[in-house]
Amino acid sequence: MNGIESAVFDLDADRHARAQGRMLDIHRDSGQAALHAAGLHEQFRAKVHPGGEALRVLDKHAHVLLEEKGFLAHRGTDGSLHVYAALRAAEDWLSTIDFTDTDAAKAALSNHFTDWASGLRNLIVDADGELIPRLIHALPVGHRWERVPGVTLLGDAAHLMSPFAGEGANLAMIDGADLGQALAAHPGNTEAALSAYEATLFERSEKSARESAQSLETVFNDRAPQPLVDMFASFAA
Ligand SMILES: Cc1cc2nc3c(=O)[nH]c(=O)nc-3n(C[C@H](O)[C@H](O)[C@H](O)COP(=O)(O)OP(=O)(O)OC[C@H]3O[C@@H](n4cnc5c(N)ncnc54)[C@H](O)[C@@H]3O)c2cc1C
Repeated sequence: MNGIESAVFDLDADRHARAQGRMLDIHRDSGQAALHAAGLHEQFRAKVHPGGEALRVLDKHAHVLLEEKGFLAHRGTDGSLHVYAALRAAEDWLSTIDFTDTDAAKAALSNHFTDWASGLRNLIVDADGELIPRLIHALPVGHRWERVPGVTLLGDAAHLMSPFAGEGANLAMIDGADLGQALAAHPGNTEAALSAYEATLFERSEKSARESAQSLETVFNDRAPQPLVDMFASFAA
C-alpha cells in the first residue's frame, strides 16, 4: 500500500489452522477506522450481523436481570450458539483436565456450576463438539518499552489484555492502520515513523488495558452479575 512493499510471515499455514472465535464487536473509532483506512469498510458492511449486539444478562438461576442491547454467549449467523464458560482458578487447573476426553472435560467443568440453573449448566453438558481450554493472560496496564531501532510491536504482542473489554482485535487493527500510515508519512525515515506510531500506541493501549482490567473485576466480582447489570444500566441512563 502507498507504494511500500510488504511481506507477511505467519506460522499458521492458513486461516483454518486454529479453532476460530465467533462474533466480535468492531468498534467505530478503532476496528472500523482501520477498515476505512484499508478501503475495506464497504466489504465489512456487507458481512456484518445486524442486531448482533442484542444482549441479556441472566443470574445463575437463569433469571433475566437486564434485557437491553447485548447478550453474553455469541449467537452466530448460522443459528449456532458459541458459549464461553469462564472461572477464576489456580493457574495449573486446566492441566488437571484431559480436554481430549470431551465428556470428562464437560463433567469437570460443569462441576463448578452445580448451583446454577440446569438450563445454563446444560450449555456445557450438551455442547456440540469439543471444549477449547484457554488461559487468560494480560500484560501490566501501561506496559511500554524503550525504542529499539528497526523493530516495533502491535496487537496482542504490544498490549495483551483480558478479552473483557472486547478491544483486542480492534486494537490490533487500528495499530496496523496507524503503523502503515506512520510509515507512509515518513518516507525513508523508519525510526521517525516508529517513534510516532509508538507514542499513539502506548497512550491508546494503556487506556484500553485499564478498561479491560476493570471489566474483568466487574465480571468476576463477588456480587456478580449485579455490577455488570449496574454498568449496563448506567450506559442506558
Ligand atoms: C476467548 C477470546 C475472546 C475474545 N473476544 C474478543 C472480542 O470480543 N473483541 C475483540 O476485539 N477481541 C477479542 N479477543 C482478542 C483478540 O482475539 C486478539 O486481541 C487479537 O486476535 C490479537 O490479534 P493479533 O494479530 O495481535 O494476534 P493473533 O490474532 O494472535 O495473531 C498472531 C499471529 O502470529 C502468528 N505467529 C505466532 N508465532 C509466530 C512465529 N514465530 N512466526 C510467524 N508467525 C507467528 C500466529 O500464527 C498468528 O496468526 C478475544 C480473545 C479471546 C482468547
